[in-house]
Amino acid sequence: MNDQPANLTDRETNQFFEARKKVFPRRIDGSFRRLKWVIMVVTLAIYYVTPWLRWDRGPYAPDQAVLVDLANRRFYMFSIEIWPHEFYYVAGLLIMAAIGLFVVTSAVGRAWCGYACPQTVWTDLFMHIERFVDGGRREQYKLDDAPWGPKKVAKRLTKWTLWLLVAIATGGAWVFYFADAPMLARELFSGTAPQTAYFSIFILTMTTFIFGGFMREQVCIYMCPWPRIQTALMDDQSLQVTYKHWRGEPRTRGIKRAKAMQAEEVDASSLLPPGDCIDCKACIAVCPTGIDIREGPQIGCITCALCIDACDEVMRRIDRPEKLIGYTTVEDEKLAMAGKVPEPPLKRLLRPRTLIYFAIWAGIGLAMLFVLGNRSRLDIDAGQIRNPLAITLSDGDIRNGYVIKLRNMEQRPRDFVVTVEGIEQAELWTDLQSRAEATRQIRFEVPADSVARRTLYLAAPAEGPERSDILFTVTALDDETATASAPTNFNRTGN
Ligand code: SF4
Ligand code: SF4
Repeated sequence: MNDQPANLTDRETNQFFEARKKVFPRRIDGSFRRLKWVIMVVTLAIYYVTPWLRWDRGPYAPDQAVLVDLANRRFYMFSIEIWPHEFYYVAGLLIMAAIGLFVVTSAVGRAWCGYACPQTVWTDLFMHIERFVDGGRREQYKLDDAPWGPKKVAKRLTKWTLWLLVAIATGGAWVFYFADAPMLARELFSGTAPQTAYFSIFILTMTTFIFGGFMREQVCIYMCPWPRIQTALMDDQSLQVTYKHWRGEPRTRGIKRAKAMQAEEVDASSLLPPGDCIDCKACIAVCPTGIDIREGPQIGCITCALCIDACDEVMRRIDRPEKLIGYTTVEDEKLAMAGKVPEPPLKRLLRPRTLIYFAIWAGIGLAMLFVLGNRSRLDIDAGQIRNPLAITLSDGDIRNGYVIKLRNMEQRPRDFVVTVEGIEQAELWTDLQSRAEATRQIRFEVPADSVARRTLYLAAPAEGPERSDILFTVTALDDETATASAPTNFNRTGN
């Protein structure tokens, strides 16, 4: 039994848990809702369609436009092919994505959360399915409160089945990025796909189903770290969805009363001049996180701007100017309250902070493009064999061994020649040759898009420093400007 006095606050009783209030947002139309539709269709289309796009790379490479080929350790993105040792390009892309979020957040607040975040997009899609099956907001609350019966069971089963189909499609689409999509699809349906594919689909299906269908705004408010980081990226000049309390307060009750007060049919002499807010709560009803934006900026607001659409509709009905709730900055709010003209939005967007973020973002992008455009498509690694490090041959010369890796990153077989610099009279031969065949340079044919590994021996006169710096260089026979080098050592004494 709870023996706490009834008038103690939550803080005094250490009760910090607040039970979740289910949110069933009302359908709304308006310019921001239409923008959300466009972004939802575009982002979902990109996600589901991309693995099915083809890209001709010739006979030696897969023809899937975007493919993370884990088995062969390659990442293909249209005409770009990234090898494992070039992973810094992927790191660069991730850094660009992070700085891109900084640019967006400093300019237009949590626009990423409101429009393009996968959690937002899939939750929005699931809410539309829910509305399609259960009906409008009122019907949804009624059905939720109703005891379980045939109607509720049928509706719930229909809704969960549709959610599950979307979730399976989502999980299924993800694995297609990691294998040839048409082939994997056939294997999945015939039950011959790798177990990891089924496991990945299961995990992604369940996370989509649970996060999009049941947890929804809880993910944004409690699980996602991004809202906490974003606050540090915003300042008084960042655009946010804001309720203009100086215009809306004090609130009047209802459309009729607001209109009557405007027409001075109500004796308002004993009241404060009425604000524009008629306390209709339409802004709360459409909010996907169920918050009241009139209470000020809060972590639950994902800046989807649906409350702007809802309030604009109300303002039009009571003949008041739109944008009682609107995108504005803290500084513009202060100017508007003082009766001054706010800064033009473009000036807010193009300010030092956003320009610096953008310059960093663009700088990294241009540097990556430059490096990508000028990168060599051949490479060499030389690892010295250390056991034994040096052998004295019968003619008195010293021999060292090296494991050479030659990368041909082009989609055609190529002939390379390997030479060594740093020691006069050095001679080379491979493990497939004899000492008698040693020369100053060795020729290799490397198949398309592959790595050739070969043991290479280097012999040099015993007279000389105990240890010499040497440089192996590979050059393409069809293009002498295509070269790469690998530094290593030549040792004249053993271990
Ligand atoms: S929709 Fe507009 S008028 Fe209605 S409660 Fe919200 S802020 Fe007030
Ligand atoms: S308060 Fe408005 S902008 Fe914020 S989440 Fe709710 S509807 Fe979207």
